[in-house]
Amino acid sequence: MKNLQAINVTVLLSLMLSLGSVCFAQPRSAHQKHHPKAGKGRMGRGRMGKGHMGRGHRGRGERELYPKLISLPDLSPEQRVKLRRVSYTLMLRGLTLMLESVDDLFRASIDEDLDRMHSATLRLRTGLKQFESALATTRAIEQGASPRNEALRWFKSELHLLPPVGQERKTLIFGMSPFHLTICSVLVIFMILMLWMYVHKMKKAASLLQTLQNVPPPSPKTQTLERASAHQEVATPRSGKWSGQLKVGSIFSETPNVKTFRFVSPDESPLPFAYLPGQFLTLSLKPDDKVVKRSYTISSSPTQRYYCEITVKREEHGLVSKYLCDHLTEGGTLDISAPGGRLTFTGKEADSIVLLAGGVGITPMMSVIRYLTDIGWPKDIYLFYSCRHPEEFIFREELEYLQARHPKLHVLVTMTKAKKEEWPGPRERLNKTLLSEFIPDISSKRVHICGSVPMTAAAKSILSELGLPKEQVKSESFGGQKKKGTQAQTEERQEPTEVTQAPKEGVPQVTFQKSKKSVDLPHDKCILEVAEENGVDIDYTCREGTCGDCIVKILSGEVNMECEDGLDPEEKAQGFALACQAKSTKDVVVDA
Ligand SMILES: Cc1cc2nc3c(=O)[nH]c(=O)nc-3n(C[C@H](O)[C@H](O)[C@H](O)COP(=O)(O)OP(=O)(O)OC[C@H]3O[C@@H](n4cnc5c(N)ncnc54)[C@H](O)[C@@H]3O)c2cc1C
Repeated sequence: MKNLQAINVTVLLSLMLSLGSVCFAQPRSAHQKHHPKAGKGRMGRGRMGKGHMGRGHRGRGERELYPKLISLPDLSPEQRVKLRRVSYTLMLRGLTLMLESVDDLFRASIDEDLDRMHSATLRLRTGLKQFESALATTRAIEQGASPRNEALRWFKSELHLLPPVGQERKTLIFGMSPFHLTICSVLVIFMILMLWMYVHKMKKAASLLQTLQNVPPPSPKTQTLERASAHQEVATPRSGKWSGQLKVGSIFSETPNVKTFRFVSPDESPLPFAYLPGQFLTLSLKPDDKVVKRSYTISSSPTQRYYCEITVKREEHGLVSKYLCDHLTEGGTLDISAPGGRLTFTGKEADSIVLLAGGVGITPMMSVIRYLTDIGWPKDIYLFYSCRHPEEFIFREELEYLQARHPKLHVLVTMTKAKKEEWPGPRERLNKTLLSEFIPDISSKRVHICGSVPMTAAAKSILSELGLPKEQVKSESFGGQKKKGTQAQTEERQEPTEVTQAPKEGVPQVTFQKSKKSVDLPHDKCILEVAEENGVDIDYTCREGTCGDCIVKILSGEVNMECEDGLDPEEKAQGFALACQAKSTKDVVVDA
């Protein structure tokens, strides 16, 4: 017990010294102002009674003051003065409580009253806390210490979140630990890398777009060659065409005597050639003992990259059309070369287009219409279609569908053999009135014609009467005047043997240079006919001057051509001619 008393005395003395120094460290004026009897406090401690301090103020002061510290920057000057007054009062109360507790502790230890000693210790701690909170508030107000930090420090210490003194975390730049700094640096580097990659990719995409925009649209020949070179089944292209096998994917019945054949790549890849709306393909097949070739316009749209379609009218005595319609089945393959033909329209050639079609001549028009509606061409499309009976109306449903969805597609159909009750529309043949009423300002438009030979001729003459310049009118007819009876071509090629005919008086000579043949060229015969008669191989398809397949170079001499639709002006300037049209009154040398 003596030891305990000694400890109490020591504790009391040191506490009194430290409290005294704290107390006297406060501004004297302020201290005296708020606590004029502060000096008497110690004298009157016996009278105040321990219960008063313990009950009235225990733990309440610091709870009131620390929250006030948090909001101190927002306090008005008056509120600050008030708070300073409160904190001085609280400091004094805390001090008084501590002195009383020490006194009580001293007495209790003399009396060896353990309960009192315990209660005195608790009050001593409460007094210290009050004093601390009041001191922190006063410091924050008078010494400029951050009130928020003071309050936070207190809360952390209450929750035991502060590290032991002397072991505070070492901070580096911006108050971050090395670990945080490393993580942040990695994140920043990653972000910069991602940004750089994004900018790099955008630049690459922009330059690719630029390149694509600067590339001129490829010609049909280039497209064919490019695609052909990427395809494995390519045969050596002749005249820039792709040749190879395609599979019959599907067959559709359009009318009682018209069928559509859909061709696909055997390996189901995109088509090995590209084409323009209006071009045709040529089939080589052997319906009997001979290989024959027939051309058919591609009726589908080039926007379909996985298939192309032809639409064939079954001719009652036709060799190929009958074979196709009666015997060809889905899954079979055919030898095909494509594309061919110059009668194309992609929407860039003119601001509006007039399509005049008769019977199966609607096939190239359908490709144009499908393509233009697929790409959303915003200009007017006029289709004038002539056929005999409503049941022969090819693509009727699709045209009605397209018309309903494309207000710029205007369709007029005339049924020349239909009865009144069978067809509510016009039933007359193509004529000036019908055409000019249907198409406003027709003379300014580009016109494509495809139908039978008589229909094409009639249309041309009507258009001429309506004032259309010849250059605005392009035509094709499937039923060409076959000088050899049919369109068939045999595959056998003859080796060139030198032939020189004795020239007849007044009859010009044609020399086929490659074939080493010089023969008569009668005035009424074209170069193609003379070539065929003498075993000179020149390709042909339409024999109408429209497809351009029989193009040959005239090495010397001059020729006249009735129709030269299948020839570009540049080709003509370079000395090329269409063998099916070229006639001459003078000697000519041909590169064939
Ligand atoms: C560029 C181009 C594109 C073409 N596009 C298409 C198209 O999209 N759709 C289409 O259907 N056609 C098209 N053709 C026509 C096609 O090429 C064929 O000419 C057509 O299919 C007829 O060929 P075929 O072998 O059946 O008839 P062929 O055997 O060549 O006979 C030709 C014609 O003579 C008739 N004939 C033959 N023998 C006799 C006989 N003993 N007595 C009476 N008449 C006879 C036939 O009925 C037929 O009308 C196109 C032609 C060209 C040039």
